[in-house]
Order: sequence, then structure tokens, then C-alpha cells
Amino acid sequence: MLKCDFCGAETDFVSRVVLDKDYDRLTVKHVKRYACKGCAEKKDKQRVERLKAEHAGKGA
Ligand SMILES: [Zn+2]
Repeated sequence: MLKCDFCGAETDFVSRVVLDKDYDRLTVKHVKRYACKGCAEKKDKQRVERLKAEHAGKGA
């Protein structure tokens, strides 16, 4: 049984999530965490949203 680093749930399914370097500039550049399925999907969505926002901000 592995433990999700985000919600703390014990789960058989874990996904290695590599956080973007700007997730926390003050600490490690790339942090690998284990996420349960729900958290992995959530993180993935957040990542996509952030990338979209970054691209939108670069316009004009
Ligand atoms: Zn989780």
C-alpha cells in the first residue's frame, strides 16, 4: 500500500507527479511526488490550466 503525498490516502494506484519548477521556487526545482488517481488528475488539470494561463499572459 502506498500513500498519496497530496491527500494522504492509502492507495494501490499511485502516479509519480513531477511538479513544475515554478510550483515552489524556494525549494527544489523538480519534486517528484506520489499521487493517488484523483490527485494525479487534479494536478494534471492544474498544470494544464497554468500552462494555458502562461501562454495567455504572453500574448499581445
Ligand atoms: Zn490523493
